[in-house]
Amino acid sequence: MEPVEIQIGFDPRLHLFLGSTRRAAGAKVRCDGVSSLGHLIEPLGAPLTEVGALRVGGRPVAAAHVPSAGERIEVDAVRLPQRPPHAGVPPRFLLDIHLGTLARRMRLLGLDAAYENPDIGDGALAAKSAAEQRIMLSRDRGLLRRRELFAGAFVYSHRPAQQLDEVLTRFVPPLAPWTRCTACNGELRQAAKEAVRGRVPSGTQRTYETFAECSACGHTYWRGAHAERLDAIVQHALRHMKDAESAANAAA
Ligand SMILES: [Zn+2]
Repeated sequence: MEPVEIQIGFDPRLHLFLGSTRRAAGAKVRCDGVSSLGHLIEPLGAPLTEVGALRVGGRPVAAAHVPSAGERIEVDAVRLPQRPPHAGVPPRFLLDIHLGTLARRMRLLGLDAAYENPDIGDGALAAKSAAEQRIMLSRDRGLLRRRELFAGAFVYSHRPAQQLDEVLTRFVPPLAPWTRCTACNGELRQAAKEAVRGRVPSGTQRTYETFAECSACGHTYWRGAHAERLDAIVQHALRHMKDAESAANAAA
């Protein structure tokens, strides 16, 4: 088999994953003449979770396409919003060890966001993503390259507020604020005022009328001291979702 030379151009949204010499449109790449486009693109830096349509000379091709000499390949960024892998089933997520704040904020919105602390390692995370059909969220490209993953998405921002916006824009998931335990991801159920006596400070038990408890860990919730800050996060998310849904409908 003869090595062949092709030209490859990436969507500017993928440039942050590439070395500077790969960013130029039509950068030349040598390949072995037998590897598929999918296998060729990934080592250049962009995780396949972030790659969208592939074209050769303007014509769409699959990731299994084997390029031949002189081809001009265009690589798009993944198209947003990304529909859940199973239509009609709300997406479930799994977050790596660095995304604990994002996990708590997603749970606040009622999103199913699994998060393991202490870290269970990349292999176990990938296996959990596959077994529980969870979309792996991470800033670790190595983790997102794992073949076992059910699905994955790179988190671009370092800041939890923007990370949350990213997830909402990308997946447009149905929200159900105040229905999930921010500590363990369990679902909340209403708890009677009498039932929480002894589990919350007695002043709190007298002052508040509405309580909820986690069906998994038993933690008791009420709209207490942090409510304003959390409410601001929820209100922002609901506004952001409205915009994301309008954009998604316009694009459909
Ligand atoms: Zn819980």
